[in-house]
Formats: sequence, structure tokens, C-alpha cells
Amino acid sequence: MATAHDQLTFQDPVTRFAEISPPKQHQEEPGLDAELKPKADRGEETYRGTGRLKGRKALITGGDSGIGAAVAIAFAREGADVAIGYLPAEEEDAQHVKSIIEAEGRTCVLIAEDLSTKDACEKLVAEAVEGLGGLDALVNNAGKQISVENFEDLSDEQVVETFDVNIIAMFRICQAALPHLSPGSTIVNSTSIQAYSPSDHLIDYASTKAAINNFTKGLSQSLAPKGIRVNAVAPGPVWTPLQVSDGQPKDKLPEFGKNTPLGRAGQPTEMAPCYVFLTSPESSYVVGETLNANGGQVSP
Ligand code: NAD
Ligand code: MG
Repeated sequence: MATAHDQLTFQDPVTRFAEISPPKQHQEEPGLDAELKPKADRGEETYRGTGRLKGRKALITGGDSGIGAAVAIAFAREGADVAIGYLPAEEEDAQHVKSIIEAEGRTCVLIAEDLSTKDACEKLVAEAVEGLGGLDALVNNAGKQISVENFEDLSDEQVVETFDVNIIAMFRICQAALPHLSPGSTIVNSTSIQAYSPSDHLIDYASTKAAINNFTKGLSQSLAPKGIRVNAVAPGPVWTPLQVSDGQPKDKLPEFGKNTPLGRAGQPTEMAPCYVFLTSPESSYVVGETLNANGGQVSP
């Protein structure tokens, strides 16, 4: 899937990545990049760093695959050491990302924790701080998305789990991280186009994404005076394992992303520069913002 060009080469966004028609496929949750067909582009071959995160210490949840993996690779190429949180079932993907980061001469700390509990969220932060020797960048990116056709069939268990992982964990991780974050530090949260345009089969997930936008704005007000900036990125349809582990109805997969003005799904590496920008000191006056990266879908 990788193109020959890096992300700074002048190129047509319509054709930068091929339009894909993913075959119907299923993976058990949480899904692996290693088994995704076609492969997603996390920028392994193409992302070129320009020293924007030199010496930074970043924790990225869900950094084993998809958007989080692309962010982890980009952060390392920009000069950061990285800790990534993931689920034990994702060890293969996590090891792969670690090997790419270490090839850049950067440190990669792997932390397998299920973020559904407060204890695990606190442990994640403690291990990241210990492994990196501090923390000045947090990317809350882990997320759970399970499509359910009829609202009547949405189980109470799924609603609670989705809220626990997608939004409650953000409260817990931010609270645990705060004592370690000095002025200049940043938090970037992964929200979604679903925050504004909820699909009828993703009502629980979409609600958490709207909550993340509001959480981001509220927390940004609280932390700005301390010199800590909080922002969010709202991806549109991006080709990742989330989509094949019940994130979308199976029959919709071949059409995934085709209804955007660019006419194609996004690749994870196209999200990475948004996270880099919001984490880099160059965005010093950007606070409480949601940066939409969705192929042109009109959003607030
Ligand atoms: P992904 O499956 O590659 O990443 C999601 C990650 O969340 C997993 O790798 C897993 O490590 C983590 N996770 C899930 N449940 C967890 C748990 N209980 N404990 C700890 N970690 C857990 O998929 P992705 O699409 O790259 O998703 C990353 C973020 O981007 C998510 O927040 C998702 O909602 C958001 N997003 C994705 C899209 C898209 O189209 N792919 C669009 C908008 C927003
Ligand atoms: Mg994963």
C-alpha cells in the first residue's frame, strides 16, 4: 500500500492513496493490523520526520495498530520516545511497531493493559513514566466500536464497556498523568466524525465521541493556565482493524470511505500529522480545538 512519496511531497489527495474495496472479512475484537486485508499504511515507508518532537516523552493508547500506530511511528521519526498501551491479544502488532520505533534509535515501552478499570489506567501511566523517565505528551486514542443494527439489541454490557474504554478511561488517564505534566506538555484525544454525524448502528460509540469533544474543550479550559494544551483529532473513515472487528456491518466494508468528497478511505498515516501538529510546540496558541481529518465531510 505504501506510496513512494513522503507526506511532504506535493501530490493529489484524491490519488495519494488508492481507492480500496476491502473484501468482507471478520476478526475477533480487538483485531490485528497483521491480518487486515488490504494492509493499511501507517507510514512505515513514507513518514518523514522534521525534528518537531525532539526529546519528547509520549504515551499513546492503542498505539499498536491503526491510527495510534501511525502516530507512534510519526512521533518517533519526529524525535520522541514512545510508550504504547494496547491489549494483550495485540502483542504481535505492538512488537512490530516497537521494532520500527527502535530502528529510528528511539525508545519504545510496551504496556499491555485493558483500560476498562481505574487501576489499569493508573498502572499504564505509572509504567509509561517509569519507562520513559517522565511524560510530556499524552495521546488518548484507544477506542471500542461495535456496530449493532437495531438499538433494541444494544446490550447494557456493551454500552458500559464502550463508555469505560472510550471516555471514562480518558478521565482516569488524564488524572493519573497530570502530576507528571510540566508546562509545555500536551494531551490529544481521538474523537470522530461520529461526534457530529452519528450512524444509527453506532449510537453508543458515537455518544462517547461527542463526549470526548466536550471533555477536550472543558479540560483545555482547566489546564491552559498551567501551560498544558488539550486538543482533539476527529478522523473520518480510516482503514484500520477497528472496522473489521465488528466496527462496521460486514456488507458495508467494500464501500468503506467511498462516500467522502475525496472518494476514498483515509489511511492511518494521513492522521499522524494532525497529532504531531497538536503535540508540537508550534501549535502553542491552539487550545481546545478539534482538528477534523475526514476526507472533506462537512463538520462543525
Ligand atoms: P485500532 O483498532 O487500530 O485501534 C484501537 C485500539 O484501541 C486498539 O488497537 C486497542 O489497543 C485499543 N483498545 C480497544 N479496547 C481497549 C481496552 N479495553 N483497553 C485498552 N486498549 C483498548 O483502530 P483505529 O481506527 O486506529 O482507532 C483508534 C482511534 O481512532 C479510536 O479511538 C477510534 O474511535 C478513532 N477513530 C477511528 C476512525 C476510523 O475510521 N478508523 C474514525 C474516527 C475515529
Ligand atoms: Mg490494535
